[in-house]
This record gives sequence, structure tokens and C-alpha cells, in this order.
Amino acid sequence: MPEGPEIRRAAEQVAAAVAGRTAIRVLFTLPRLGPHGPRLSGRRVQAVEARGKALLVHFTGGDSIYTHNQLYGRWYVVAPGRLPATGRELRLAIHTRTKWALLYSASDIAVLPRARLGEHRYLARLGVEPLNSHTRLADVRAVLDAARFGRRSLAALLLDQGFLAGIGNYLRSEILFAARLAPERRLGALSPNERDRLASAALKLTRRSYRTHGITNDPERAAHLKRSGLPFARYRHQVFDREGEPCWECGTTIMREQAAGRNLYACPRCQGRHA
Ligand SMILES: [Zn+2]
Repeated sequence: MPEGPEIRRAAEQVAAAVAGRTAIRVLFTLPRLGPHGPRLSGRRVQAVEARGKALLVHFTGGDSIYTHNQLYGRWYVVAPGRLPATGRELRLAIHTRTKWALLYSASDIAVLPRARLGEHRYLARLGVEPLNSHTRLADVRAVLDAARFGRRSLAALLLDQGFLAGIGNYLRSEILFAARLAPERRLGALSPNERDRLASAALKLTRRSYRTHGITNDPERAAHLKRSGLPFARYRHQVFDREGEPCWECGTTIMREQAAGRNLYACPRCQGRHA
């Protein structure tokens, strides 16, 4: 499932293809959205942006398309007429003269006035976004100090888009490892020093993943592992998807468990389960 960093890169790719250009044709294949296609066709795309795991396309005339990829959605940018070889189902097409931006599989799509985007159920509850360039460490730290989150476990909070927006399943495991915190800890029980570690890990890992196209492992270690011949999937993470393998730091076997309904990976030793 794409997380904040993947959606932000998709938004940049879609923006490079259609932003500032006239959408000569806009097509929705979901029947409930069909009538919006002819209405938006012929308008200019003003901007494309990511918010959390949502991607927004703004048109002249004050309308925006909201999309959320959920588990299977995927954006493609292609030359006109060159449809991707995919078994997925087309949901939305934005054609310009030079490029087509196509969204497959996602069904969480809406068209609404740009001025009312803030009322959308997903966008309305988004918390501070670590990937936003104007987000500072102090902003993330302030979220961690908010009393309303204090009773919940770190594992549950890190999947809550109202806590920190754009974090998903792989980032959750990777942030907790980087902060050296056990997933079951309650936010309110963390010491000031532990909160600092969590805030800085949340900021650092999401930004690193965006910059490196999904590598959350230590950059020097990842480069070394890559040179030694490991494939991307094996060197990209610290703990995520590494059940049964030795921790890069201490050699302890990485554990997998279910937390808030999703796979979570952790090093019991580094994350303080064994004193
Ligand atoms: Zn370890």
C-alpha cells in the first residue's frame, strides 16, 4: 500500500504530466462520477498535490478531484494512446495533448469544490504531515504532547492519519525501530527524551523514504548491502518485512506480530523488550 512518500512522488509525476496544461478530456469510469468528466474536460489543470495518502488535482473553475489509492490504486503517466499493460481497471483519465495521467483500481474518488476540500472526511482529520517542507521538529513534538493521544499505543497511533499524516505500515515499523521504542508503549508514558526520539524518527524516516524512493535503512548500510549483491527488497528496510532475519544493529532475530490489524516488525532487543 502506498504511503505518504509514494503518494507524494506520484503527485509530482502527475503534476509534471498535466499541471499547467489543458485537460482536453477527463473521464471517470465510476457511474456516480461520470457526469463530471464532460464538465471538467477542456479546463486547465492548475496544480496537483499530495495530502497524507490523498492526491488532489485542481482545475480552473474551482473544482478539485480527490483520490485515495487505498490498497491497490496506482497512477500511470503515459504518452497519448499508450495504455499500460495492466490487469487493473481504469477509474480516472486526464488527457492532455502531450501526456495522459491515468488512475487504476482506486475507487475512493470524489469531485468537489476546492474551497470545500477541508470538509472532506479524510482531509478534515489529517494531522501534522512530516513530509511537508514547512513542518518542523517542534510541530511533530507538539503532536506527541497532545493529551488526546496519550492513552493509545504507539503501534495504533502511527497508523492514525489524524496523528501524523501519511505514515503507513512500513513507516510505522521503521520509525519505532529508529526511535528504539517498543510498539506497545503508550504515548503518554514516554519520557521527554523518548518523545524527542519518536518525533525526530518520524520526521527523518518519512523524509528519507521520500528522498531515496523507499529506502528507510541507514543510507551507508543500504549502500554497502547493495554493493554486496542484496536485492532492493532485502536491503531497503531496518526491520520491516525482515521476520526471522538478524537485526542489522545487534543480530537479534526480528519478530513479526499483528498490531492494529497489520503486520508490525520489531527487534526485541533494540526496542527495549529485553532489558
Ligand atoms: Zn536489534
